[in-house]
Amino acid sequence: MRFADVIGNADVAKALVSMADTGRVAHAMLMYENEGCGALALALAYVQYLNCSNPHDGDSCGECPSCRQMSKLIHPDVHYVFPVNKGPKSTDEKPTSESYVKYWRELATANPYFVEADLQRAIGIESKNGLIAVAEARSIISKLSLTAVADGYKAVIFYLPEKMNQETANRLLKMVEEPPEKTLFIFITHAPEKVLQTIFSRCQSIRVMPLTKDEAERVKALNPFDDREEYNLFMDLFADLMNAIAARDLMAALECGEVMAALESREKQKAFCNFAGECIRKIFMIQQKMPQIAGVAEEEHDFYVNMAGRCGKGFCTRSIANIEKVVSMIDRNVSSKILFCDLVNRMFLSL
Ligand SMILES: [Zn+2]
Repeated sequence: MRFADVIGNADVAKALVSMADTGRVAHAMLMYENEGCGALALALAYVQYLNCSNPHDGDSCGECPSCRQMSKLIHPDVHYVFPVNKGPKSTDEKPTSESYVKYWRELATANPYFVEADLQRAIGIESKNGLIAVAEARSIISKLSLTAVADGYKAVIFYLPEKMNQETANRLLKMVEEPPEKTLFIFITHAPEKVLQTIFSRCQSIRVMPLTKDEAERVKALNPFDDREEYNLFMDLFADLMNAIAARDLMAALECGEVMAALESREKQKAFCNFAGECIRKIFMIQQKMPQIAGVAEEEHDFYVNMAGRCGKGFCTRSIANIEKVVSMIDRNVSSKILFCDLVNRMFLSL
């Protein structure tokens, strides 16, 4: 992530660049924000800038090997710590961030403005509290005691230190106070008052400001399905529709069409169409034996594979074309009941 790609908080970005340029790099920094305001994006851009081999105009180059590794969150000297718990996505008895780092990377590269609930969903611990336990401190200490792989800074980006217990903090304290050379800790908190005082007092703190309405819109656009409630509603509706079509139950399929037509605004109706088009694209990718680029979530895998087997050859391309037509018609004052009834009928016939 380059500073140029960070949304909002230009003043914080400027301060970070100046710290790096003047060699005043604090080895422990605490960024506090209301969640979703970009502290992680700023932290990533900062570490990328510090380790870039060709920085210019106050930003990293985005192209050198270090920047490329940073953009995929696979830089060997940059470690991530975040609250975890036991869950179906890891078999580790005492899971640490390392156990879930694959999901962290997927989430943070797609949208570094995610909120804590997104992280919990991504690592499959929705119903539990995420914690930073003492096993994490051990893991970090051992990683930081290794020599840096590259020539730059080693960094630990520590998401939500308020989820760390006293024992973990005690273990880490010495490392935070006197880190090895060219090593930095960046803590990102949403509740500075809950961060253990022993850690807090050793950090230079930086306030990440709330986003303006316009900036928040731009963040939202990064992930149109950020709103989980809407996602679930759309996914259920799409699954009902596809199940009805596959079961050759026209009545049930038309009922789904009625629900689509009753979505509260044209924007919502268009959003659903785009969502359905994206789902059908996933079915198509699986039919084409390219599941790796379908981007299907684990819990939805069976549904998509089932549908890929039940839909005929031309279903996906015909349906996507029909959906696109509906999107262009929605704005033209056509009755949405008729539009969606027609769409469902066409999809029913294309199976
Ligand atoms: Zn670079």
